[in-house]
Amino acid sequence: MSQKSFTDLYPSVWNGTSVRSEVMAFAEEYKQFISRCKTERETAAETARIAREAGFRDLDGMLSRGEALKAGDRVFVTRQGKAAAFFVIGSRPLTDGLRLICAHADAPRLDLRPNPLYEKEGLALMKTHYYGGIKKYQWTALPLAFHGVAVKKGGEKICVVLGEDPADPVLYVSDLPVHLAADQMKKKLAEGVSGEELNLIVGSIPLNDEKDGGVKAAVLKLLKERYGLDEQDFASAEFEIVPAGGARDAGFDSSLLASYAHDDRVCVYPAFRALLAAERPAFTAGAFFVDKEEVGSQGNSGMNSHLMENVVSRLVRATGGSPFDLSEALERSALLSADVTVGFDPSFAAAFEPNNTARLGSGPVLMKYAGARGKSGANDASAELMAFVRDIFDEAGVRWQIGGMGRIDLGGGGTIAPFASKYGMQVLDCGVALLSMHAPYELASKADLYETFRAYAAFLSSGAELKAYLG
Ligand code: MN
Ligand code: MN
Repeated sequence: MSQKSFTDLYPSVWNGTSVRSEVMAFAEEYKQFISRCKTERETAAETARIAREAGFRDLDGMLSRGEALKAGDRVFVTRQGKAAAFFVIGSRPLTDGLRLICAHADAPRLDLRPNPLYEKEGLALMKTHYYGGIKKYQWTALPLAFHGVAVKKGGEKICVVLGEDPADPVLYVSDLPVHLAADQMKKKLAEGVSGEELNLIVGSIPLNDEKDGGVKAAVLKLLKERYGLDEQDFASAEFEIVPAGGARDAGFDSSLLASYAHDDRVCVYPAFRALLAAERPAFTAGAFFVDKEEVGSQGNSGMNSHLMENVVSRLVRATGGSPFDLSEALERSALLSADVTVGFDPSFAAAFEPNNTARLGSGPVLMKYAGARGKSGANDASAELMAFVRDIFDEAGVRWQIGGMGRIDLGGGGTIAPFASKYGMQVLDCGVALLSMHAPYELASKADLYETFRAYAAFLSSGAELKAYLG
């Protein structure tokens, strides 16, 4: 008998599935969401808006009015306009622990620098600073959109989105023509395009036929007329440059999705939908969407801050608990760190270990550990927690697979998992496998998206006792 292959152990969700229409319908809703939410601010605002419409109440407002929480209540919290958390209060006390799913809403991109605008050779340009791990050459010669916010002196907030409507202009980072690239093509791939060459071209018509500085002056005039922005307002702004346009179906069979920032909205969305679907869970169910994961989770909207306990302490207060209950609630919790992982790419097969790499289409990936080299930086979930989650998924009939970060010593990656586990809670990385992670367009499977939603919903609604596994 031949030995079992990876896909014998972890078959494709498409095989024998009876829910193909549900898979496709869910992907359509995700496409709408991800095409609207391209930044962490947009994601936090949109999830809060949807939750409010679904009857979720603002926890901070409730606390200021002295209102208490009871089982079945649905609440949300936003922080810094960049992080959001959503909860359905369980029938069990918070000190029995929560069931949490945490994903990140930031994604690799180009940020504008604080003094971006200049003119050179008749073109107006803007300086950028890349955010997160990118292959810089991938961000040239493609249509780019402009998203973000400037805060004027005095606090007035000006939000700008340009380049998403097909009638909008886009912005553009140039690359050398191949005809003149003999020197560039001899460079290492990582050095082919440098950070200082990632300059946005933003205009070329001079103001009043001026020879020097006229193009910059004309762009400044447009910014003032259209948005009320002055040149120094970029000093108090967060403008993000992302690929223009929405998510698209991919493949002749439309089984795949090509989009900017699947990492990590392909986990944000099913986590959010699973939380919205949670009805009267035993353990309080929560979905956390955080910022700054792509730069190490630092900052007050990132997971390596006190965000988690600050928010959960509000839940403890609103359910009538004592401050001492907070550490118990956190310590007894189980959290799925909902982040993407690498999928096996047959065109670059040498980068993957075939027996331990997720396949597109085989469902959500349980990743025991991420990290680099000798598991450096890994959370490394316990065998006990792996068994707990396997049982929940199997009982719900969810197809899942295992995965890892490719061949040993080629690279690696981190997630928010180590920052969550510092509370003593049980933390496991579980998300969707991608091809071309961190590229301007990443590829995901619609089957994985839907099966991940089912997996997260099963996890949030499960009344299974974690204690029974931990011993
Ligand atoms: Mn990620
Ligand atoms: Mn990432």
